[in-house]
Amino acid sequence: MMIIRLIILIALVSLLIFVYRKLTRSSNPTPQDTQQADAMRKCDHCGVHLPEAEACRHKQLYFCSPDHRQAYLEQHPDE
Ligand SMILES: [Zn+2]
Repeated sequence: MMIIRLIILIALVSLLIFVYRKLTRSSNPTPQDTQQADAMRKCDHCGVHLPEAEACRHKQLYFCSPDHRQAYLEQHPDE
């Protein structure tokens, strides 16, 4: 009967290690990175919303395409 208790104990310990590793692994990815990737930006020329990853950037401004960035810069030469 001692062997069965030992097996149950080993099973419990390995289960705890498995759960602990799963918990520590899931907390590792930084949630800020995924939030930034999903962030929606507004085109400063036409106002369309698009993911930041697909936006064309100019300083603090975002545009839906290089054409709109060019058009905005032509209308606002100071920036
Ligand atoms: Zn646009």
